[in-house]
Amino acid sequence: MQTLQGIAVSPGVAIGEALVIDNEGFRIPRRFVVRDVVEDEVERLTKALDAVGAEIARDRDAVTEKLGDDYGAIFTAHLQMLRDRRMNDELVALIREQHHSPEYAVSQVLRRYAKIFQELRDNYLAERANDIFDLERRLLRRLLGERREELGHITSPVVVLAHNLTPSETAMLDPQFVRAFVTEIGGAGGHTAIVAKGLEIPAVVGTGKFLTDVSGGETVIVDGDLGRVILQPDDETVARYQRELEEHRTLAVRLEELRELPAETLDATRVTLTANIEFPREVQACLDRGADGVGLYRTEFLYLAVSSEPTEEEHYEAYCQVLKTMGDRPVVFRTLDLGADKLGQSPSHEEERNPFLGLRSIRLSLKNLPQFRTQLRAILRASVLGSAKIMFPLISSLQELRQAKMVVADTMEDLEEAGVDFDREIQIGMMVEVPATVVLLDKFLAEVDFISIGTNDLIQYALAVDRSNNEVADRYRASDPAVLRLLDMSLTAARQAGVPASVCGQMSGETTYTMLLLGLGLRALSVPPAVIPEIKKICRSVTLTRCREVAERAMAMESSQEIETYLREELRKVVPELAPC
Ligand code: PEP
Ligand code: MG
Repeated sequence: MQTLQGIAVSPGVAIGEALVIDNEGFRIPRRFVVRDVVEDEVERLTKALDAVGAEIARDRDAVTEKLGDDYGAIFTAHLQMLRDRRMNDELVALIREQHHSPEYAVSQVLRRYAKIFQELRDNYLAERANDIFDLERRLLRRLLGERREELGHITSPVVVLAHNLTPSETAMLDPQFVRAFVTEIGGAGGHTAIVAKGLEIPAVVGTGKFLTDVSGGETVIVDGDLGRVILQPDDETVARYQRELEEHRTLAVRLEELRELPAETLDATRVTLTANIEFPREVQACLDRGADGVGLYRTEFLYLAVSSEPTEEEHYEAYCQVLKTMGDRPVVFRTLDLGADKLGQSPSHEEERNPFLGLRSIRLSLKNLPQFRTQLRAILRASVLGSAKIMFPLISSLQELRQAKMVVADTMEDLEEAGVDFDREIQIGMMVEVPATVVLLDKFLAEVDFISIGTNDLIQYALAVDRSNNEVADRYRASDPAVLRLLDMSLTAARQAGVPASVCGQMSGETTYTMLLLGLGLRALSVPPAVIPEIKKICRSVTLTRCREVAERAMAMESSQEIETYLREELRKVVPELAPC
């Protein structure tokens, strides 16, 4: 049994069989071969070893010719490893005696060898582990074929273990089969985490290296509440987590009963609870959980699932689906928040050293006007089907806001001329995600119909901490006193200007912060659909008077740790079952 600590990014507990997706996306199933085909499988292995041997020899010759013997010798060493008698015997024995598939035997044996090298004190030898991984990859590529295993085609219940998953790869996971996932890298505020929550797949990221210790097929427990991953748990641990799973289910059933009830505090203040979605398919979950609307539709996810630029019709169809399903409940369309942080580097752009400070979000939209207009036309055309609102992300200057509004006005004019119907009164709002915007918020508020505070970005820009980097994840804290003050400033300014405000960052969906946010004056929260029942339960269990006292005390504290502990204690007093440990 081995326990890893990572960052909890999507709640829930799961127990399942490990499916390892390594850097190259190989899936290494624990497959056993039947007795009759054992010799065929040994032959398949032998052929793969020969083919990889020939491939390495070719590489050696090419490198020797270009760079000389010293460099070619690297590949000679690879060849020697590949032909190592002991390793070959071990592989064959696993197939003949244990009936392992050749793929499984290769990953088991080579990973074990690599681990032995990694643990050696000698740096030079430790680095040889990479050579073994290289061999493993070459062999698996031969055995499994070149194709990258399609994450979207997983059709048996598994726990996915990977070095990293991009947001679009995560979006391909089918929650019906993928019980949970764990990645070696990643941070709490990254978009992979956001998609996991949207899909309701328990997830832990940023565990550090562990893939050398697994090859697939082992039992894994993922505790998405505590950020814990247990490899090959003992029976007692499995039994404990099974009990916890049962408790989760019971709590979910109890919360389900709140569906038709309003999110109203004990002293009769109604709180609006809307949902954050990434894909149209999530709207049903919003209705099932009793959402008052969609407070944040991250429309850019349409781009992450396709390889070419979506057409206006593709945008339009997605938007119609969302609006029609939500009926007269409001839907906030956040315009494209694309950039290198989400899509990786686009080959057409020069590499950005700091994508989060670069050409992302509204900046990209204003630079790529045809793309922006295409999206706006689709939103406006769909707006007649329900209650649509437009929201601009990452606004950091008044000029930017005015420019964006101008593009909307121009697009409206075009539609008008073309005789296309749309909602002429459509509300326009902006996200508050940059500290500079908070400082000048009174000016912005005079020019928008509503604001939504994006704490995921606000925290990273206020604290100078990359939201997706696990090296600095411990510094990324919603409970930082500076973050609280920025929230207070924003909500106070909105109240004074009479402009509705909500919070749509992950913070608003964390039970720890509900009392604080209500106490700071927030009356609208937008959260992942899965947590609506929990947040509603808290709203219905507290008084605003108490929340105000809690907020006041928290605001006077000086450290994030102190604030977090205090908020959890206060929550425990009112709804103990929803207070994080
Ligand atoms: C935010 O930054 O808080 C937010 C909601 O936007 P995103 O997470 O998509 O950047
Ligand atoms: Mg944001």
